Amino acid sequence: MGLAKKAKEAAVEEAEEAEEAKEAKEREERMRRLEERVKACKKCELWSLRRNAVVGEGSLLADVMFIGEAPGYYEDLKGRPFVGKAGKVLDELLASVHLERKDVYICNVLKCRPPKNRDPKPEEIESCTPFLDEQIEIIQPKVIATLGNYSLQYIFSKFNLKAEKISKIHGRIFTVETLNGTLKIIPLYHPAVAIYNSAMREVLFEDFKVLPKILSEQHNKRERG
Ligand code: URA
Ligand code: SF4
Repeated sequence: MGLAKKAKEAAVEEAEEAEEAKEAKEREERMRRLEERVKACKKCELWSLRRNAVVGEGSLLADVMFIGEAPGYYEDLKGRPFVGKAGKVLDELLASVHLERKDVYICNVLKCRPPKNRDPKPEEIESCTPFLDEQIEIIQPKVIATLGNYSLQYIFSKFNLKAEKISKIHGRIFTVETLNGTLKIIPLYHPAVAIYNSAMREVLFEDFKVLPKILSEQHNKRERG
């Protein structure tokens, strides 16, 4: 490669990096404002019981977004998603495909813990999901992995997909076109199912293998331009 061409490529790369840094800053600012609103939110009755709202965490430039159900005991205590037993399973699943928490974004359908970890109520989901919608807007993930049935139901209905039984569709890739480009949706079992069930644990690990496949396809597409 000629020197001039090399210099040009370096300049392009530098410009891309600057663009990415600017985008990251903007997203951080938007997420910070969203977090403030979530922490002050009293839209459903769950606010009165929370110790901490759990907004989400990870990279705001992530390609993959994991969406669970709702904070549990430890999440409410720490204000972070998936830090209890189910979180330990999620960490192992991520590690099995060479991903770390900092590479992805993790959040939930509900931001406050339902008492005794009961199921979310329809009115709570309706009150809370505008926050999740905004998180999806900010991050513009290429892949959304739903964890568990509540996440599956919400995301499938949001993107006009017909949600069949998780036992039938787990690990499959659903592709939808959005204003922000092509989005792949992967329904997964909730990691909590793997805590006491080794057969389900194997299913989850098997299903997770679809992630690196999609990500490398995307990477290749980007390289080709
Ligand atoms: N289960 C969830 O669905 N979300 C969490 O953050 C933790 C456990
Ligand atoms: Fe607000 Fe969501 Fe918490 Fe309900 S669960 S109080 S809607 S943040």
